[in-house]
Amino acid sequence: MSTARVVRAPRGPDRSARTWGAEGALRMLHNNLDPEVAERPEDLVVYGGSGKAARDWRSFDAIVETLRTMGPEDTLLVQSGKPVGVLRTHDLAPRVLIANSNLVPKWATPEHFRELEALGLTMYGQMTAGSWIYIGTQGILQGTYATFGEVANQHFGGNLAGRWVLTAGLGGMGGAQPLAVTGNGGAALCIEVDPWRARRRLDHGYLDEIADSLDGGLARVQQAASDGRAVSVGVVANAADVFPELVRRGVHPDVVTDQTSAHDALNGYVPNGMTLDEAIELRAAKPNEYLDRSTAAMALHCRAMLDFQAAGSVVFDYGNGLRGQAKDAGVTNAFDYPGFVVAYIRPLFARGAGPFRWACLSGDDADLAATDDAVLAAFPDDDPLQRWVRFAREKVKGQGLPSRICWLGYGERHIAGLAFDDLVARGVLRAPVAIGRDHLDSGSVASPERETEGMRDGSDAIADWPLLNALVNTASGASWVSIHHGGGVGIGKSIHAGLVVVAEGTDLSRRRLELVLTNDPATGVIRHADAGYEIALDTARDVGVRMPLEPATKPPTWQA
Ligand code: NAD
Repeated sequence: MSTARVVRAPRGPDRSARTWGAEGALRMLHNNLDPEVAERPEDLVVYGGSGKAARDWRSFDAIVETLRTMGPEDTLLVQSGKPVGVLRTHDLAPRVLIANSNLVPKWATPEHFRELEALGLTMYGQMTAGSWIYIGTQGILQGTYATFGEVANQHFGGNLAGRWVLTAGLGGMGGAQPLAVTGNGGAALCIEVDPWRARRRLDHGYLDEIADSLDGGLARVQQAASDGRAVSVGVVANAADVFPELVRRGVHPDVVTDQTSAHDALNGYVPNGMTLDEAIELRAAKPNEYLDRSTAAMALHCRAMLDFQAAGSVVFDYGNGLRGQAKDAGVTNAFDYPGFVVAYIRPLFARGAGPFRWACLSGDDADLAATDDAVLAAFPDDDPLQRWVRFAREKVKGQGLPSRICWLGYGERHIAGLAFDDLVARGVLRAPVAIGRDHLDSGSVASPERETEGMRDGSDAIADWPLLNALVNTASGASWVSIHHGGGVGIGKSIHAGLVVVAEGTDLSRRRLELVLTNDPATGVIRHADAGYEIALDTARDVGVRMPLEPATKPPTWQA
């Protein structure tokens, strides 16, 4: 039974733990469960359905008590959210080592996991939930921003100004699309079947307007694009009606994608040819009929996307499974347009770029402003980063401890980390900074249906890489390191690793930051170079990442 209880990170310059490494873990564990940050804090659930920060409140209290009292050369072991031991290590070692949700592969099924969870033996850690570095919805917004930024780089000279994007789905993750497009300078037409979802996005400032009709919305967006204005407009309608209708009219969006919940034909995607209320009734009364109607609608939706592609639009799948559903419904060429990881994220991963993030442990907005300034000053020529940080400052609503995310690559992350460390050392910041990243990163995840889908050498399911990544971060002296299973896509489907390192303005923290923030992205460069990606091979050569064997540039299962 859960106890209703509210926790929030301690703030200010004074720590209750003996080291800032332990204090950082303590504050970030609390922050993950701050009601502003967590989905269901009373059940210790941070995000992603059931991703938890600690096994139960008893474990939470014991972790906090241990972090407060452990010595500067101690390391706490956490097994799926439960503190199980404190060992003597050394001052450069991590203060916490975490393993979440791991099962021996033959037993790694959702059913077996749930049995063990019911017995109180394990916990689902998701990615940053159980590794204490979740920072709220800014993460998904920035990831979506980075995707559209890479679309702009690859197709439109680095900017979406003067371009417009057609997409659908304004839900939990998809709702980040309009703001991510306008942040990159473009205009967006977003089709959403549920008026409440569209309204919510408008209220939260993620969407600029809701049009009364498709004609009105289309005209607004086309006009905005031709004026070079960044505007997002929602239209309440079904994508399976609107996308084919726009094809029939010969309308040419510059970019087409989709984030309806197509992965779930029954409880997610809404079939066309009926109102939303009728769909909800049909779902409950005749689920089989609903499924037939839903997959038929997805086939129409996907065909329209193929037609847009044939007519010259840039079209990509946003990881929602629409292509697979449509293929099952008879669209044999559904996979003619690419998935977003293969097309846009992998080139970033190949150069060791990924979602670098930090939280100011003081709780002061002024500290965040100083770190934002430091990042802007450190990378003056990185236009997407400059645009993003300025945009996020203005648009992102704070949740919990002041935090920021931006994508940085190999050779960049330690520069930012050392800049923050210097601000702490000089007393510009009121307290240290916790620096980490998502597990969805360059070298830290094996997830064949998402991050490692379609690897060039066929190594999608090889999970040695995230394990090596965690070992490297432990050896390099991160403040806490974690190895997880099942995050993002579910039990049985992924293995991934996380880290956080605290910039505390000391010689020791400088050493930790330099090693961790260099070696962590280096594992991503190595992983992608080993798989034969030219960008990674070039990066490794340019920056001198040592690889004892020259990787083959065309591995045996070469895919175009
Ligand atoms: P969600 O369920 O919160 O939102 C989906 C939205 O789509 C809802 O608002 C729903 O009303 C709307 N919708 C459903 N059918 C529609 C239709 N026919 N026409 C118009 N609107 C329709 O889901 P979410 O969290 O926003 O995620 C969306 C999808 O994108 C999921 O399938 C998710 O897995 C996928 N996704 C994947 C990644 C990734 O990393 N692979 C990243 C982002 C999103």
